[in-house]
Amino acid sequence: MAHSVSASPAMCAAVSSDGAVTMTMVPRALHADGFITVRVTHALVTPLEREAARGLGANAQRSQTNDAPVREPRVIGHAACGVVEHAVTGASNATPLTRGTRVIVHPVLSCGACDRCRSGLALHCRARNILGVDAPRGALAEYVTVPAASVTPIPHGLDEERAVFAAPLSRAIEAVRRGGVEKKTFASILGDDLVAILTTLVAVEENPLARLVAAHDATLSVAEQFGIRHRALHETGQRGDQELVIETTGSAESIASAARMVRARGHVVVAGISARAPVAVDLSHVALDEIEIHGSGFGPLTGAIERLASRAIDPSPLISRRLGFTDVPRALTALAEPGVFAVLVQVSR
Ligand SMILES: [Zn+2]
Repeated sequence: MAHSVSASPAMCAAVSSDGAVTMTMVPRALHADGFITVRVTHALVTPLEREAARGLGANAQRSQTNDAPVREPRVIGHAACGVVEHAVTGASNATPLTRGTRVIVHPVLSCGACDRCRSGLALHCRARNILGVDAPRGALAEYVTVPAASVTPIPHGLDEERAVFAAPLSRAIEAVRRGGVEKKTFASILGDDLVAILTTLVAVEENPLARLVAAHDATLSVAEQFGIRHRALHETGQRGDQELVIETTGSAESIASAARMVRARGHVVVAGISARAPVAVDLSHVALDEIEIHGSGFGPLTGAIERLASRAIDPSPLISRRLGFTDVPRALTALAEPGVFAVLVQVSR
């Protein structure tokens, strides 16, 4: 996307460069027509931030050009909320958002002009950038400037500490929708991460038998806390009896496990987004058992905001740590420990 913005005063941001994330001063984007600048108050450090730091997005660009991986420093951070610093100008049909309005940023930045955007598939825009993944400037920064269509006001009564989960929750809702959970009696969600737990919480709304399958005790005890059905991965038989398995890690091992857990003509939803591509999966088993594999990315924020505002889903137990803005590198290290699902970063007050 052509961001018609130019350099201006500096801001502090979590910058990923050559596999390391450091707090660095970077130029702030100048305000431009059709864009909104948000002063970030809260952001999450999740497995997606770890994968971005490992080169997710850079690999995608490499595969398109067959060149060396792109090592451009980038600001990480896909899940954030804040307050409008500069309201939109020049876009006649934009929601009126005044300075100080509390907003959530949708991480999928689309152009609004291509054939897919015009046919209602803005999340699959041809010029799509994912905030903090392949957009050069993500949300773990003092300010983030995004297309006006990418921000949604936070409803009254929803605090920022919950609102900031809207982006990962939108992935969970999309994964459940893609898998058609309500029609599948035996449905498992496989993973030990934030999206695995959120996906199970959404799945049980439609199918109370849906269960979380996880490798770590720490994940299973959080499932217990949420009152959702759960099973340790090593106790799960390889009988291939599940109608649906939603996999949230994106690792080769996990996708292979998902394919083994599903019955003939069953469905696997790949909702994990990992930098560690390519994956090796026994595709002959997928072919012979006629397993259907579906991809799943981000969904709209609407359903996520509704669930958070009504407290149908309260993600508070998933805030494993609370750290200050300058501690983002420490937050990424903490994610390696089992039972650390998300680190809440207070960027500003
Ligand atoms: Zn587009």
